[in-house]
Amino acid sequence: MLRYLSRSGFLPSYAFPTDTATFERADTRESIAHDAVRSLKDYAPGQLVYVRGQKYLVDQIDYRRGGLLTAEGTATLLERNVCRRCEAVNPGSVEFCEVCSSDDLEVVPTAPMRAMRGKPRESITADEERRARTGFEVSAHLGAGEPREAVTFSYPRLRLSWERGARLVMLNRGRRDRRTGHAEPFLVCDTCGTWFERLPEAVSSGPGKKKADKHAELCPAGNVKRTAFRVEREVDVLHLLPDMDGLEVDLQELQPFLASIREALELGTRVILEADEGEVQGFDWPRPVPEPGGQERLAVLYEDVPGGAGYLRQLGERLPEVATAVLEVVEGCSCERACYRCLMTYANQEEHEILERHLAVRFLRGLAAAPPARGVTVPRLSDGLLSGRPRSPIEAALLRACIEAGLPRAEAQHAFADYDADGREHVRTIPDFAWPEQRVAVYCDGWEFHSSPEQRAADAERRGWLERQGWQVLAFWGREIVNQPEVCVARIADALRGS
Ligand SMILES: [Zn+2]
Ligand SMILES: [Zn+2]
Ligand SMILES: [Zn+2]
Repeated sequence: MLRYLSRSGFLPSYAFPTDTATFERADTRESIAHDAVRSLKDYAPGQLVYVRGQKYLVDQIDYRRGGLLTAEGTATLLERNVCRRCEAVNPGSVEFCEVCSSDDLEVVPTAPMRAMRGKPRESITADEERRARTGFEVSAHLGAGEPREAVTFSYPRLRLSWERGARLVMLNRGRRDRRTGHAEPFLVCDTCGTWFERLPEAVSSGPGKKKADKHAELCPAGNVKRTAFRVEREVDVLHLLPDMDGLEVDLQELQPFLASIREALELGTRVILEADEGEVQGFDWPRPVPEPGGQERLAVLYEDVPGGAGYLRQLGERLPEVATAVLEVVEGCSCERACYRCLMTYANQEEHEILERHLAVRFLRGLAAAPPARGVTVPRLSDGLLSGRPRSPIEAALLRACIEAGLPRAEAQHAFADYDADGREHVRTIPDFAWPEQRVAVYCDGWEFHSSPEQRAADAERRGWLERQGWQVLAFWGREIVNQPEVCVARIADALRGS
């Protein structure tokens, strides 16, 4: 009930301080609160908000109320690095994606969606009207960082991975251009938060020019910057990894298949677990796997409930029961592809065209007959570390194997210093894992066909130096780690015992 009220905008903003965004009416200074994720669209600059019959145009970020001002009085428009390979959202400070270690990152300035303002608008120009009908580019991403807890469930032709406390980042990159389909970033002042339809310096006449001149006078220190809006949350997620070959899903079917199984399971959370519509949502995600350039697409469901209600963990545990109930609905429907009686909902409108109940049936049949699965807890990488963190899926795979074998904790990315002839300190080498007490260092070498003879010579030179300092040095190729983790771990264990 609380949740419904907060979404509908009736609750004051203190109800869920991190889950709501506020909109303040510039004329009355009254404000209303709204679910933050929905606000990404509804309170975006240029949107019309209706309050008690009055029309308002959202045209300013309220930095003060949003807690976004720095000591210098400018706003903190934080950069995020969006990975072009795996779509993860990383902090602005990284050089490599923390999820897949790719360096192909897109720097995106972002403003958190927290507090917006708008002025009453009696009349709406044709231009504004047209603009308000164009859609935004809103996307869901997983953020970097390890979840608090992870459990896997194995079913026939499906592996589920449940995580508590995963980071979900929603971005609104701007309105799509009607012709190109690309998002046009929002233009906002970093000092007063005013929104501009066009860059002030690019406007030479009309009301835009008047607004730009007035702004230059009132806010002389302001810089108008391109930005996206973001909402970040910790949520429960369930990764669905179907065996595409076993289920005979071909490439053209992949997107409809993933969308249809997501919606089928979302329907299951409502039918069996009594979730409300919209509490479980999902998206597809290109997941990095420990192989060169390796990637697989999977479906992700997340629970959009403050504090978490546990629907997704239950879904993992009770999947056969859920699949049986959903199969009855989806198989028994009389529509051709999908309808509101089976897979369609108001919330999944954008995917209505690709939903296909027969794909969901193919997926659910094997599951309905399966015995319930016991969850297996995945070790947390931090349980195997004294410091640092792995930088790639291969390193993470080796570390997991070490934890499972009960090896002592390691330091990841431990830097070894050396001195120049003139006494200056510099970093000589950084093994991926080091056990300082036993003086054992491990390098994960990636993939042999990616390394040049020069690189190998340089690696050998650095490792020779480390051995001369009294360390045992081991190196493994990605292929060895992926195919025979137990062999790698046994060699590390031997080295740690000093044999
Ligand atoms: Zn990545
Ligand atoms: Zn300004
Ligand atoms: Zn139907």
